Amino acid sequence: MTSPDAPAHGPRPLDPSTVAVTAGRPERTPGSPLNPPVVLSSTYVSQGEPPAGDLLYARMGTETWSPFEEALAALEGASLPSLVFGSGLAAIAAVFAQVPDDGAIVVPQHAYQAALGLADELERRHGVRVVRVDVEDTDAVVAALDDAAGAGRGLLWLESPTNPMLEVADVPALIAAARDRGWLTAVDNTFATPLGQNPLAWGADVVVHSVTKYLAGHSDVVLGAAVTDDPELRAALHGYRTQHGAIAGPSEVWLALRGLRTLALRVERSQATAALLAGRLAGHPAVVQVRHPSLPDDPGHERASRLMRGYGSIVGLRPVGGREGADALVAAVRLWVPATSLGGVESSLERRRRFATESPTVPEDLLRLSVGIEDPEDLWSDLDQALRTLL
Ligand SMILES: *Cc1c(COP(=O)(O)O)cnc(C)c1O
Repeated sequence: MTSPDAPAHGPRPLDPSTVAVTAGRPERTPGSPLNPPVVLSSTYVSQGEPPAGDLLYARMGTETWSPFEEALAALEGASLPSLVFGSGLAAIAAVFAQVPDDGAIVVPQHAYQAALGLADELERRHGVRVVRVDVEDTDAVVAALDDAAGAGRGLLWLESPTNPMLEVADVPALIAAARDRGWLTAVDNTFATPLGQNPLAWGADVVVHSVTKYLAGHSDVVLGAAVTDDPELRAALHGYRTQHGAIAGPSEVWLALRGLRTLALRVERSQATAALLAGRLAGHPAVVQVRHPSLPDDPGHERASRLMRGYGSIVGLRPVGGREGADALVAAVRLWVPATSLGGVESSLERRRRFATESPTVPEDLLRLSVGIEDPEDLWSDLDQALRTLL
């Protein structure tokens, strides 16, 4: 993953898998802890005007957030610390709040459904223009940017691969087009993880994560983060977090940092298994359609091969029998967990349209599979036996 043209002299940049282990550690002084401590304090000793000291009150910042914020920034290649939020959606809300009421947001029609819901609310209550696009179609996205150009400052919101349709966008081309037009650009990098792609390097203004998913990785916390290299934007997002109280608890952030240490191992294992399962599912008699960018005939394969390191660990599956077939499959698995969410060590699946809020253009029978780190053959035999009940 390191750059092939790294200088022969000088330090070779650390591989991201190493950075995930080493970043955000306390200084190495004798007797100091290896891990940063969890500090449970709502306030800090302070007096004077202006108040002396970096830390004042725990809604503004805490020493338990900083190690995680530094580690995620290092993984995304940012020079400024990231900002942790109480959830992925809180981080998304902070970015959307940067759009003025007369502005516009261009969003993938199959972006995370709660992000779409939030955009709709901005449209209803604040008059922000929201344009949904097919993010696989680069020309259509650029046309949407031009179409909305009369509005105040716009935001191009990208997600790639999309949740749950797994569409892969030409993210660098779209960011370049949006920047040319003076738009703010943001990428929800939850599915790819910082190991899969680093949109800041493509010129994105801000990257957002649902830390709940791969970064924390154990389905035990809800958290989010925003990463930017722009000091003004970072100050605005920090201001939003403080004013709206969209903050995380220290224990959750500590758990997320602990989870982050094994990110590379978890992602390597789960995406290799996802590719294996996708290939086998494609030839299964009880399967109508499989989507995973690793498949050579998947519409996202060429782009993902060019832009991403790895193809991710989410698989889209449409079994035979339509919506009833999909529900029967979810009921028939024993090892896979029927649950929403994704990115944990355990494999889970769900039919997305069971939520009324899911986009109506998502097929009724689409199952989203989140592949975990269990033994690949155990996962396959459970899926195979459940699929065979449909024949
Ligand atoms: C889960 C998810 C979110 C929302 O994050 P929360 O931590 O649940 O608030 C945003 N984007 C994507 C792609 C997600 O999968």
